[in-house]
Amino acid sequence: MVASAIALGSTGAAAAPCSNPNALGISRVMTVDARAMPLIGSHDYGVTLPLAPGEVVLTFDDGPLPPYTNAVLKALADECLRAVFFMVGRQARANPELAWQVRAAGHTIGTHTQNHPLFRMPADRAAYEIDTGIASVGSVFGTQRALAPFFRFPGLFRTIEGEQHLRSRGLMSWSVDADSYDWKKISSGHMLAHTLAELEKRRGGILLMHDVQPKTALMLPALLAELKARGYRIVHVVPKGGDPAEDLVASAMPPQRADPIARPPAAAEPRAARHYPPAAVPAEGPPPRIQPGGNGLFEAIFTASGHRWGR
Ligand SMILES: [Zn+2]
Repeated sequence: MVASAIALGSTGAAAAPCSNPNALGISRVMTVDARAMPLIGSHDYGVTLPLAPGEVVLTFDDGPLPPYTNAVLKALADECLRAVFFMVGRQARANPELAWQVRAAGHTIGTHTQNHPLFRMPADRAAYEIDTGIASVGSVFGTQRALAPFFRFPGLFRTIEGEQHLRSRGLMSWSVDADSYDWKKISSGHMLAHTLAELEKRRGGILLMHDVQPKTALMLPALLAELKARGYRIVHVVPKGGDPAEDLVASAMPPQRADPIARPPAAAEPRAARHYPPAAVPAEGPPPRIQPGGNGLFEAIFTASGHRWGR
């Protein structure tokens, strides 16, 4: 089953126009003002996006990572869907072409720190991880304007200091309403059942998934089919003032393997960043806290890439 997911994700088919007349599709696009809604997600904040019953926002953390992100893109494209991807800076720098594919498919790009530390970060570390992650992901696209001012704490390990830093930069902290548990060592079938049960509790909401997880790549087509069967509607969230298509064309930077961080991100900004002030990026971040986890293919790849197991 893993092999089929790898094969599905071997090309950048996600950018192709939608041609599935029976697709689940996007029911509406919600434009949000990050400064007006700095903290969202009922798991941590008790408030969430203004969603109607039955509306779901798909979110994917920790990528990009082939071949699983490719498979997720394929599943979303097959159903004419768009989601929010919270990218890790290190992952985007390691896989710039794949990050570009996510962007080219029209998905919203948020960030998820530079190194994905899984603990409550002290104030200085939080500021470093937030700013460096944004600069790294932005450098892949040649401009931080390609990013939405959306951020999610790794492991949902939020702190008051971290939230204050986000607010000072006009960033929006995204918690979740429903957790797929795809980061736990459970089967894809268990994950599907759990995800549907979580969504049923609230009749929708912000759904947390991970595009670096084999089980997510495998299960996503079935989940999307079940969401359609149950009458759920998918909402694509974009930032106020953002124009993904315009930004993508304007940046006109082809995907490339060369280390994008070698070029200071501020130099690529034709004018003040729309969402962020320029951030300096050290050539190397602090060493990631690596914890070998599990015994599967994902763990081998993800641990080798310098990340710990967990949401
Ligand atoms: Zn994460």
